[in-house]
Amino acid sequence: MPESQPPEKYPVPKNWIINAVIIIALIMLYFSLTQRSATGSAYVIPYSEFKQLLNEGKLMSLTLRGNKAEGTLLQETNIGPQKELSRYFKTHIPDIGDESLLPSLEAQHVELKVFPPEDTAGMRLILLGLLPWILIIAFWFWALNRVQRNVTGGLGGKGELSKFLQGSTKTAEIPDITFDDVAGQDTAKREVTELVEFLKHPSHFRQLGAEVPRGVLLMGPPGTGKTLMAKALAGEAGVRFYSISGSEFIEVFVGVGASRVRHLFEEAKKNSPAIIFIDELDSVGRTRGTGLGSGHDEREQTLNQILAELDGFSGHEAIIVLGATNRPDVLDPAILRPGRFDRHVVLELPDRKDRIAILKVHTRKVPLGDDIVFEQVASGTPGFSGADIKNLVNEAAMLAARDKATKVGMTHFDEARDKLMLGTVRTLAIQPDERHRLAVHESGHALVAHFLPHADPIYKVSIIPRGRALGVTHQLPEHERYTLPEDYLRERLVVMLGGRSAEQVLLDSVSSGADDDIAQATALARAMVSRWGMSKEIGPVDLRDSEEHPFLGREIAQPRHFSENSAQLVDKAVKEFLGKAETRAMDLIISHRKELDNLINELEEHETLNEEQIEACLGKKRLP
Ligand code: ATP
Repeated sequence: MPESQPPEKYPVPKNWIINAVIIIALIMLYFSLTQRSATGSAYVIPYSEFKQLLNEGKLMSLTLRGNKAEGTLLQETNIGPQKELSRYFKTHIPDIGDESLLPSLEAQHVELKVFPPEDTAGMRLILLGLLPWILIIAFWFWALNRVQRNVTGGLGGKGELSKFLQGSTKTAEIPDITFDDVAGQDTAKREVTELVEFLKHPSHFRQLGAEVPRGVLLMGPPGTGKTLMAKALAGEAGVRFYSISGSEFIEVFVGVGASRVRHLFEEAKKNSPAIIFIDELDSVGRTRGTGLGSGHDEREQTLNQILAELDGFSGHEAIIVLGATNRPDVLDPAILRPGRFDRHVVLELPDRKDRIAILKVHTRKVPLGDDIVFEQVASGTPGFSGADIKNLVNEAAMLAARDKATKVGMTHFDEARDKLMLGTVRTLAIQPDERHRLAVHESGHALVAHFLPHADPIYKVSIIPRGRALGVTHQLPEHERYTLPEDYLRERLVVMLGGRSAEQVLLDSVSSGADDDIAQATALARAMVSRWGMSKEIGPVDLRDSEEHPFLGREIAQPRHFSENSAQLVDKAVKEFLGKAETRAMDLIISHRKELDNLINELEEHETLNEEQIEACLGKKRLP
């Protein structure tokens, strides 16, 4: 359970109040010193008036301090403009002295007191001189106090700075997620299941002297459920789950990340058995010594601290550290060595069966229509990760809500799928001739795919602009493929160039609409030639100039390790592959011209055609 401190709604810092009172008192003292004469209750009267009052016998007493004289007058006396009674007065005796004063006082029987002159001016100067220093020191104490509170948070609390150094360890609760919430991923589940036993009964393992892995690295494409799996492990074992993202370790200040790591491990050790989950481990665990500047210093210190903490387990703590990454290739070898993140669990993109299971998990609370066929939804979502499927269900539910439907039906899933795969529908003012060219282009793709035996069946053709595309021909593989045969790949090239070929045959010209098709076809042909040895002239030689990332599906440029002559051979072979594919596409289009015209007309009329409508125009699909 998280630390439970009584909630302090409006915390009043008491020291702050004391400091404020001191400062106000000092300011008041300052004003009382500087304005004493102005605010005193005695009236200042001129010496001449004083003498007159004395001679009139209205003076009762007088106190002399050097040249200063103050005293009491008879009560009914009016002085100056004041009409009310006043007893006190002040006056200044001329510096040259007044020899007649003492005799007059004696004659009027005035009570006289004489004191030596006061040196108040000096005192006041000293105090005024000291005051700024007193204020500065008071401010310094106040600031120091505040910083201290920020660091320590007062008595036992958490200050801003300590919070910053400790980072935001997100959860320290026992998750209520179990392996039932993780659909598919059977291999990964099997790998981590034995850790559940260890976390549940650590003493049993200890007695037998068994060494359980401390670090487990979960690897896989984004959204495949790495975080979910880690939480499910904690939930299944009933232990606390400490989670932090690797990027949270990286701060501008060197040492903050290391401090956060220390704090995280300390907390977990205090509450063992526990699971520490470090998401995006690659952001902190990259190979060290590869960069310059403070950013890398900070990362390296953090990484060193993680390694030190992993090494520092005494074997008694029932703590398992799970790291998640989709870039295992960039991790520092030291992090992967035995004793650290030595167990590697790979989470793959779900296949059709797993996608059905994930759909079932995420539609548990969704009211579904009777027409829903999970198999069909799963078939239509190849390459979707668990996160994508969760998103699909959510999109479908939102569409149903927008339609004011009571249940989520198959149409909602279809629409949500198209939205996620192809983008949102765009309203563009497309000119009729451009629209015709679009219909020709998409029909070309569809016709070629339909008549090629190894090509994936067409699921939908549309000339409604969606996302970045003006039109789309959507094929769906009948089954999951783990390797791609040459026949299939060659036919894929033909389908890609089918749109452009149709434009050429029917409109006698080509357009920029084939931009993406050409780029994709060239990349595929290059891979066939330089990586998969599908060109007879070149043979099985690795001539790739970039590395495909295992989990991100992106190419990363690499220095070239082959000769200029080999590069030219690759270029020639790529051209040949594409040339052959284009010729084949043209042949198909010319030989099925009638069917193609049919399809173009239908597409222009309906804008979107499904499988059946396409078959109605083109006849049955040719099978291998
Ligand atoms: P990333 O690498 O981007 O951090 P990840 O692999 O950690 O992603 P998660 O955050 O665990 O992915 O998953 C995202 C969402 O996808 C989760 O909320 C979860 O509901 C859903 N999900 C992913 N895989 C599965 C699965 N196998 N079963 C059920 N739900 C899943």
